[in-house]
Amino acid sequence: MNDFLISIGLEVHVQLKTKTKMFCSCAVDPESPPNTNICPVCTGQPGVLPVKNEEAVLLGIRAGLALNCKIEKFSVFARKNYFYPDLPKAYQISQYELPVASGGYIKAGGKKIRLVRAHLEEDAGKLLHAIGSEEVDGSLVDLNRCGTPLLEIVSEPDIDSPQLAFDYLKSLRRLMRYAGISDCDMEKGSLRCDCNISIRRCEDEPLGVKAEIKNMNSFKELKDAAAYEIERQKKLLDSGGKVVQETRLWNSSKGKTFSMRSKEEASDYRYFPDPDLKPIYVSGEMLEIEKAGLPELPGAVKERFMNQGLTEYQADILTDEKVLADYFDKIIAGLTPDGQEEAANIVISNLLAEANQSNLPLDAFLNSVKPAYICELVKFRQEGKINKQVLKTIFPKMIKEQKAPRELIKDVNIVSDESEIVKLVEDAIRANASSWEDYRAGKEKASGRIVSHVMKESRGAADPATVMRILKRMAGE
Ligand SMILES: [Zn+2]
Repeated sequence: MNDFLISIGLEVHVQLKTKTKMFCSCAVDPESPPNTNICPVCTGQPGVLPVKNEEAVLLGIRAGLALNCKIEKFSVFARKNYFYPDLPKAYQISQYELPVASGGYIKAGGKKIRLVRAHLEEDAGKLLHAIGSEEVDGSLVDLNRCGTPLLEIVSEPDIDSPQLAFDYLKSLRRLMRYAGISDCDMEKGSLRCDCNISIRRCEDEPLGVKAEIKNMNSFKELKDAAAYEIERQKKLLDSGGKVVQETRLWNSSKGKTFSMRSKEEASDYRYFPDPDLKPIYVSGEMLEIEKAGLPELPGAVKERFMNQGLTEYQADILTDEKVLADYFDKIIAGLTPDGQEEAANIVISNLLAEANQSNLPLDAFLNSVKPAYICELVKFRQEGKINKQVLKTIFPKMIKEQKAPRELIKDVNIVSDESEIVKLVEDAIRANASSWEDYRAGKEKASGRIVSHVMKESRGAADPATVMRILKRMAGE
């Protein structure tokens, strides 16, 4: 089978974090009962006039800056005409020829994925299909979502694998959450992603015919759907068939994509500038204010953490959420530089494990744990006062009882006096004479028996690292 070049482009919709809708003052609240946040504007009554939401425009500009885009001084809203029951106006207000932001890139998986544009638009309503149900036999429409502000971020087809598509979406989500633009919760629909895939045999050929996949509800589904679609197209081309331009739906339970309809061309939508809305003008002053208001973005935070001595793996986890990175910054403010690595270990292995079990949102959980407590633990670990086992024992208590580690270690059996550990090591050597001989003869592994003997005798209260240090010293290393 010939190998193919893969080209994937993503169209991602993020729901902007505004209190009200894009062109009216109705609340954006997905928890409200159906059809309660609606008005003549968002239900498309005749004679109404839309008024653009300035907050949404500012978020669009801020997003453009976070995405390294060029912010256009002048952009316009256009009507995208199509009929669907969840779109009462029979057109969606979007941006077409002149978007608010163009160009830009996102770094993901060690690569720079170029962006085509980012534009503002409004969302449609929701259809609830209840065909055959006892109460309603048909489809119901809920217009609460109609008019919710969205930003559509379109990438170039620079993505060459399902894994990179996954990484790209993760990076995009992280950026949008850091910059306070969107919650990007895929389950709640505030992050949605369509994926365009084409394959070709070599660089010299133009891009192949693309299929668009919709209906992926998680990062994993995006990866699975892309992998399936690439294989489908490869088989098709290898057997002499042709890929047709179409929209396909991902069915996660079957693990397959299915043809939904032939893909529309832009001309099918008969775009034209919306005569009811003034263009967006972005002044130099506005741009400066937005630039200044942008927080340190995840890429920069990660680099800073790595420069401070953390591994890429650690820096990656700690910058996954802004609240976590901010929390880690509070911890390291109370430590010397040589304590940062241990702090990262405790946060990743102990704190995040507790956070996962707590069922609390991460920010609420972190608010309940004083950064000073973590600093104290780091210092105790550095001084060899507590071993990992003791740390593991007192950690949940520290959170549950809101007690400082220094209070909690009073209750646990800890051998921190080095002379006591020396005695324990001497006993262990006597009890495991042959292992000791082997160890001195250079068999590193032979130390295992001696260390475990000490751990057993001290009931886990000695620090294995200290035991190893003493053992090495005794062996004359
Ligand atoms: Zn409304």
